[in-house]
Amino acid sequence: MTPTQVIAAKRDGQALSETDIQEFIAGFVSGEVADYQMSAFAMAVYFQGMTAEETVALTRALLGRGETLEWTNDSRPLVDKHSTGGIGDKVSLVLAPLLACFDLQVPMISGRGLGPTGGTLDKVEAIPGFRTSLSTDELQEIARTVGCVIAGASADLAPADRKLYALRDVTGTVASQPLIVSSILSKKLAENLDSLVLDVKAGSGAFMKSLEDAKALGRALVDVGRLSGMKTSAMVTNMEQPLGRMIGNAVEVQESIDTLRQGNSSADLLELTVHLGSELLQSQSLADNEKQAHRMLLEKLRDGSAFAKFEEMVAAQGGNLAKFVSHELTPVAVCAETSGFVHAIDGQTIGNFVIQLGGGRQKVTDKIDHAVGLDVPLKVGHQVEAGQPLAHVYARGDFDTSSLMSAFTIHESPTETLPLIYERIG
Ligand code: URA
Repeated sequence: MTPTQVIAAKRDGQALSETDIQEFIAGFVSGEVADYQMSAFAMAVYFQGMTAEETVALTRALLGRGETLEWTNDSRPLVDKHSTGGIGDKVSLVLAPLLACFDLQVPMISGRGLGPTGGTLDKVEAIPGFRTSLSTDELQEIARTVGCVIAGASADLAPADRKLYALRDVTGTVASQPLIVSSILSKKLAENLDSLVLDVKAGSGAFMKSLEDAKALGRALVDVGRLSGMKTSAMVTNMEQPLGRMIGNAVEVQESIDTLRQGNSSADLLELTVHLGSELLQSQSLADNEKQAHRMLLEKLRDGSAFAKFEEMVAAQGGNLAKFVSHELTPVAVCAETSGFVHAIDGQTIGNFVIQLGGGRQKVTDKIDHAVGLDVPLKVGHQVEAGQPLAHVYARGDFDTSSLMSAFTIHESPTETLPLIYERIG
């Protein structure tokens, strides 16, 4: 089929063959399929979905002729964690160096901001000099010597996802199960992992707004991951409010450093990091049970090993922590107008607000302002007094206070705090 016929077939709800999908994606990588055709295809998939067979075929096609990493002369297991995307989700920055404190390698191929959610690559690039664009040799060398590396997909590794990801970000085609599954797993298959844990977010700050959709996404990720020979499990976790307190790039790096140093850590960020890490330690038989794994992980945070690994990784990737400025801008408090209890903190509104400040992209070519962001000290269930700050905003000028305030739902009646982890799959 020609590219136009492939798009029309998907638009009309037909299932595509593996060959059609392979050729369409290969054409996209070579430039024969234009960006506007790929965007139309992504929109057709968004509305029509894909069968399990098509999703597997799309994952293989995105991996395509890109390389997979070959790890010779090293017996250390390769592990990774990937999130489906959330607001304030900086777990990767803490977990990669934490896992590298054990007998493991973490070759983390990450993404940029997607829709209202931030991206790990954009965050680490807030550290002056930090290079996320690495050759395959460099990536493997850093994983070998340091134990962890955070880099982007490249012209060699998962090249199709790199291009498609950027288009999906600006064409309203992110929240699609087959597109998310193939995007994440093509990158993880390129890493040639032994174990993968997926953090599948559910709620207002996630692409899957309902718990049911998030569970279905988690099951699809685990099924396709296992079919591809990786030990894969998933945690379905709560994204009905931001994770931690900081949302933005530099401010999230600072919160990650604080967590690695065990200073000023937000309880939810620490808890989720340790849960996801525990999955991987157990999957590689480095811990017998969850309790032991948690103890081992917390010890590496307490004794400074995890922060030392982070410093090593930053230096190996050209970053200069001494020049890192987390709070270049003066925060402005946005305060509650009424007293009551916080019932909801809408993640999508918060994420879009950070994009408006310049912390994310509206067009593929937009440059990120790493210094802008938010500090949200409240969680659902907390009591708040009129005049108390709902958020502190790091902005380069005026901003739309009412759009930020609309993220917070405050009622007189008390409400329960939210669970952090809904379910484990796998
Ligand atoms: N993370 C990815 O790498 N891809 C997606 O589609 C969503 C989250």
